[in-house]
Amino acid sequence: MVARVTVLGSTGSIGQSTLDVLARHPDKYAVHALSAYSRIELLVSQARATAASVVVVPTHAAALEFRRLWGAGAPSPELRVGPQALAETAGDDQSQIVMAAIVGAAGLPAALAAAQAGKRVLLANKEALVAAGSLFMAAVQASGAELLPIDSEHNAIFQCLPHHGRASAPTQPSPGVRRLILTASGGPFRSRQWNDLHAVTPDEACAHPNWSMGRKISVDSATMLNKGLEVIEAHWLFAMPPERISVVIHPQSVVHSMVEYEDGSVVAQLGQPDMRTPIAYGLGFPERIASGVGMLDLAAAGRLDFSEPDLTQFPCLRLSFEALRSGQIACIALNAANEIAVEAFLSHKLTYTRIPSVIEGVLTQMRGSQDVALSSIDDVLDLDLEARRHAHQIVSSYTH
Ligand code: NAD
Ligand code: MG
Repeated sequence: MVARVTVLGSTGSIGQSTLDVLARHPDKYAVHALSAYSRIELLVSQARATAASVVVVPTHAAALEFRRLWGAGAPSPELRVGPQALAETAGDDQSQIVMAAIVGAAGLPAALAAAQAGKRVLLANKEALVAAGSLFMAAVQASGAELLPIDSEHNAIFQCLPHHGRASAPTQPSPGVRRLILTASGGPFRSRQWNDLHAVTPDEACAHPNWSMGRKISVDSATMLNKGLEVIEAHWLFAMPPERISVVIHPQSVVHSMVEYEDGSVVAQLGQPDMRTPIAYGLGFPERIASGVGMLDLAAAGRLDFSEPDLTQFPCLRLSFEALRSGQIACIALNAANEIAVEAFLSHKLTYTRIPSVIEGVLTQMRGSQDVALSSIDDVLDLDLEARRHAHQIVSSYTH
């Protein structure tokens, strides 16, 4: 039987890798829907190549652009417009698998809709879990959705944990597991001092040594806020308390993460740094399918190094651990403030070393909201907006 797949954020780095893997298995998968925020020309060519039934774009202007580029001739896919349509498409009954690969908290409503609909959800959009971990995991538990982590570290941990052919959402740590160990490459500035980084440019920050990724996550990898988001993500995905999650610097990005067991065993997953491996794992689970990724040559890799991260060198990692210990509102604030700070950095409105200052400022301002109970996605989105307002104010205080 052919499974129908919806790819949210199909024009991004993960979206394109997903279509690459799907194209290798026409006997197993067909595309139901694709979505994009910009790059409408690429969306048109993806829709043609996959014969998608539906495409979702953000605005009527983007829909007009899609129609113009599609032209006459072949029948156009059904065009849907706006965030509401995006969430409805993620949850509709025309697909069994949803790849959630939108960047940022903007991807939360659609990822949640897929989880509520009880589908197999391939979750790349880590910001959704950081902002709304408890709601998201509760939705997976209530609907019986299958949640497959795509972030390479979490995919590695998932592969190293015992499971029974079904990817459910755990409510407590797997028996026998002591600790989750996330590996981090340390990014492009691993061996530079924090105080020397004032003048780094967006292109320098996006030049990741091992992985090719979208610009926002590339900056997050440089600051290691990405690893902080991943610690929070691991907390929710594997029901693991913060003190049993650690980070180790591993510059070669060959070991994607590890699980430490009570008996002293450490189980690791290794592979090339290519996201098509975790994507293929998520699609095929519990079977293994070809991904197009070359095999790992350990003799050619030669050596694998590991060291402790220095939290004074990576203030964003320190702030993430603090946010996780403070609670969900702090995690929403951390993520939203970072999104605004990174956007400002990428558009040359903020210096690199002020990214953690914006985050710390917003965390301080939102401390008063600590006792609000988060019972719905609207609560999360309201707090996310409030944090973004504070972050914008701090960014403009630096530029004026
Ligand atoms: P990207 O910037 O390359 O692509 C993002 C996609 O989201 C694009 O299709 C874009 O059109 C869409 N999008 C952006 N803003 C949107 C909005 N407001 N509404 C709807 N759609 C929007 O990003 P990426 O590198 O593919 O990352 C996607 C997600 O996967 C992120 O959450 C990232 O943290 C996570 N992730 C990526 C990698 C990687 O290797 N790229 C690895 C692990 C996790
Ligand atoms: Mg990762």
